[in-house]
Amino acid sequence: MKSSKEETQKSYPLLSLRNILVFPKSTISLEVGRARSVKAVELAQASGMGLVLCSQKDTEIAEPSPEHIYTVGTLGLIKEVAKSVSGNLRIVVEGLRRVKVTSYLTSDPAFVVSVEELEDVGVGRQEADMLIKALMEQYEEYVRVTRNVPAETLISIAAIRDPGHLCDTIAAHIPVSIAEKQQILETLEVRERAEKLLDVLEKEIELAGLEKRINLRVKKQIEKSQREYWLREQMKAIQKELGDKDDSISEAEEFRQKIEKAGLTGEAREKALREVDRLEKMPQAAAEAVVVRTYLEWLVSLPWNVLTEDNIDINRAQAILDEDHYGLREVKERIIEYLAIRKLVDKPRGPILCFVGPPGVGKTSLAKSIARALGRKFVRISLGGVRDEAEIRGHRRTYIGALPGRIIQGIRTAGSRNPVFLMDEIDKLASDFRGDPAAALLEVLDPEQNHTFSDHYLEVPFDLSRVMFITTANSSYTIPRPLLDRMEVITIPGYTEEEKIEIGTHFLIPKELKEHGLDSSHLSIRKEALREIIRAYTREAGVRNLERQIATICRKTARDLVSGKRQRVTITPKNIEKYLGIPRFHYGQVEKENQVGVALALAVTDVGGDVMACEVSVVKGKGRLTMTGQLGDVMKESGQAAMSYLRSRSADLGLPEDFYENVDIHVHVPEGAIPKDGPSAGITIACAIASALTNRPVRHDVAMTGEITLRGRVLPIGGVKEKVLAAHRAGIFNIILPRENKKDLEEVPPNIREELTVTFVDHMDQVLAAALCDPEDRNEINTLPCVDQLKAAQDVAMDQMSQ
Ligand code: ADP
Repeated sequence: MKSSKEETQKSYPLLSLRNILVFPKSTISLEVGRARSVKAVELAQASGMGLVLCSQKDTEIAEPSPEHIYTVGTLGLIKEVAKSVSGNLRIVVEGLRRVKVTSYLTSDPAFVVSVEELEDVGVGRQEADMLIKALMEQYEEYVRVTRNVPAETLISIAAIRDPGHLCDTIAAHIPVSIAEKQQILETLEVRERAEKLLDVLEKEIELAGLEKRINLRVKKQIEKSQREYWLREQMKAIQKELGDKDDSISEAEEFRQKIEKAGLTGEAREKALREVDRLEKMPQAAAEAVVVRTYLEWLVSLPWNVLTEDNIDINRAQAILDEDHYGLREVKERIIEYLAIRKLVDKPRGPILCFVGPPGVGKTSLAKSIARALGRKFVRISLGGVRDEAEIRGHRRTYIGALPGRIIQGIRTAGSRNPVFLMDEIDKLASDFRGDPAAALLEVLDPEQNHTFSDHYLEVPFDLSRVMFITTANSSYTIPRPLLDRMEVITIPGYTEEEKIEIGTHFLIPKELKEHGLDSSHLSIRKEALREIIRAYTREAGVRNLERQIATICRKTARDLVSGKRQRVTITPKNIEKYLGIPRFHYGQVEKENQVGVALALAVTDVGGDVMACEVSVVKGKGRLTMTGQLGDVMKESGQAAMSYLRSRSADLGLPEDFYENVDIHVHVPEGAIPKDGPSAGITIACAIASALTNRPVRHDVAMTGEITLRGRVLPIGGVKEKVLAAHRAGIFNIILPRENKKDLEEVPPNIREELTVTFVDHMDQVLAAALCDPEDRNEINTLPCVDQLKAAQDVAMDQMSQ
């Protein structure tokens, strides 16, 4: 007996199909061209039995072998055969049922295969109805969104009552891949087949929706740009009609001309032209176009090939420096030397000049004079508080509102490639997480690198090698070390009173008069009045406030003249208050009387030298030392050192050996909460504490400076000139200095030195001997604080500790 499988096994010729799949119960017309396929058709026709229609996996293959052909296909019946115009056969076949190829019997001249018939695994009526409903709804939706299915198809499909058949028919009508259709064909379980088809339809619906949206957008865009184009053409026509001139040249063309004129370097030029091309292709109002336009504006406005000619005539330079500045002999000499080297070497790789000094000593105006002497343009930027690398180097163009950094901005302002470029306050650079601006500056200042300085915004290198950079700082300590190494520091310590009078008389007064439209017939300021202004209205190392006060006088004079109140104004010490208000400082009166626990220190701050009082109060307690007044660590340590020295000297000072166990000591250095640090107040602190402990007053007309060691040795300190000038300014003529600083006193002008009495010391004992008076000499006796004061002092100390 034959098995049931064998009964169903039959053999048929096979036609392999490319790009098409025939489902059962569908009739289709095919064109047959390949020899083997034609033979298969002939065989089928001859036998009248049928033909297996299987799709090819890969449509590219012209002569497929069995492994290139899907095994599941459809048994079809040839209904019609005709010769087509191209000489191929055109056949009409009707799909009958699914079959699976079990083996290939021959492959020449045609494939003949043995197949097994496949049966659908159906579902119950109710489920069938549900599936049909779901399929129809989905298909209708598909038809609605794609709109490429004829209405008749929908009607004929709607009549099908078998879900398996419905799946086949729908699958035959949708343009999905052969692989997807093949899956539907291979699925015999009707429910599963329906689910697969539903998935396919859903995906197609989604795709169709997306496509529609994209099409719509593209269409709108095209319409918009067409409209804009049309309007612009109209506008041009109107302008032409009206006789406007600049209608002939487009924006892009204008940029191209500017690029050629601006003399960009090769790389920059290429980049700029590329951007112009890009701009041309963009709609005018596009956001990107604005960015490109700004960028191009920047590129063409930089002085790529503008160089001013240097005029290095040393005598002339000297004359100009003298014309603009009083004194500063050494500074001027060094500037002249520097210029002389520049004259000899075309592109000197020498250091950058750095003027260090307090505000108002003429750092900026010296740089301006240098520019004037050389005949170069002058620009100035301030680096104070710059903490972001991008401020130096610019932001990348991808940032909204990006701009080049300050260097390139400065160059644009200068309008030449070789200006004198002043960078103020290089000591105030900060750095944080946004990068290190000092590192960027290093590249700017380094002659090896700065001929190809790259700004993030520009994206093309700019040559800074011809720029003459000059920097300024208030103090050289806080300049980042690697920067400092590149610079030649020229210190301008500040002016004496006499120098200020000279500067005032010969420079500031004439300058301010001119600026206010006055001359010497309108206003004269007596020398004594000028001295009074310096002493009572300013307290500074430079002359900036002096200049301001003179400007105030000029303003008020101008008002008086214009209002007809006066014809001429003479300023004397007597009428000065009328113009400048009540005096702000009391000359020579830092402390009026000898006091216990108050000693005067000489210090150097950002604004030059200064005299500061150091106050000490001693109260009952447990040996605590509190130091307040914004003091740095080094200063606090000198306080500790001073304390240790005094403990070792308790016997000499007439104090009990364990005195420190029963007292709390509070050291305070006032002066407006300016941060103070450094070891140079060591002897002052020790002196003030010794005074407070022994109840012996300190001389109020003595100021001191020096570092103290644990054994009481006095070590040398820096900034002697500034400190001595500050004491002189404040009207203090007795000064205690470390002996090792004796040589530094030579920097102080002789006329000032003559007025001073300087005591040089090696040891703290000498300081105490020179500064402490006998108890009777005190003008105001600080008795030990009463209980209330004691408590208040302790509260303050506690507050400070807990902060
Ligand atoms: P800085 O840059 O050091 O803060 P400036 O250069 O701004 O100081 O100087 C302040 C003002 O003082 C300027 O008007 C300057 O011309 C003037 N000045 C400073 N030093 C001198 C001097 N030696 N001779 C003449 N004028 C001076």
